[in-house]
Amino acid sequence: LVLKRLDQTLSNLGYCSRREVRYLIKNKRLRIDGELATNAAQKVDPNAVSIDGQPLEHIGNILVMLHKPLGYVCSHDSSEGPRIYDLLPTIWQARNPQVVSIGRLDKETSGLILVTDQSALVQQLTSPKHHVDKVYVVTVDQVLNSDIIEQFAQGIALESETTPCLPATLEIVDPYTAKVTLNEGKYHQVRRMFAACGYHVTALHREKFGEYILGDLPIGEWRDLL
Ligand code: URA
Repeated sequence: LVLKRLDQTLSNLGYCSRREVRYLIKNKRLRIDGELATNAAQKVDPNAVSIDGQPLEHIGNILVMLHKPLGYVCSHDSSEGPRIYDLLPTIWQARNPQVVSIGRLDKETSGLILVTDQSALVQQLTSPKHHVDKVYVVTVDQVLNSDIIEQFAQGIALESETTPCLPATLEIVDPYTAKVTLNEGKYHQVRRMFAACGYHVTALHREKFGEYILGDLPIGEWRDLL
């Protein structure tokens, strides 16, 4: 663990600006190992710091699963709609490193999205090399023909892409619903795969990402994975 200054530690965790730390010290709100903090420049182990008697939150790295509602965007830009980050603790928005989603879901897709501040984990879980399985429940506009199972298994050619998709597993759940397992993540991939087979996707929901399963996590809620 590389120890950082007390003011840097608190500002990186989103508690306040570095300048404001001096006021917290002055107002006797900060302690290190139970002793009142006196110096904003002191190097500290974040696990030793408390603010108003409470340990710092999420000192380890953040990794949570969120049940993304329809209509929310995975971008940090709120001009496109409400952001998934608005469903998470406000203090995380001021953190450095930034809290980000691991991959993205479309605005009109619901379900499991992972959020973290560990960029190495983002790299690892979104890298095509790692073949992380993603499971989607897909509703379409026409009765599904069982031929589509084989088409997905062969690898669908997408419009404007030179290489076909990797083989994917498709299971027909009911006439208009399929469960699809992919281990890559091209832009709008599920919608485009179905479009290539002549179907329009009317609803898309992700229930699994790698080892993580959404289960009965309510819409809009999140759960800590660490
Ligand atoms: N595939 C899509 O088309 N959209 C998503 O949100 C996820 C996978």
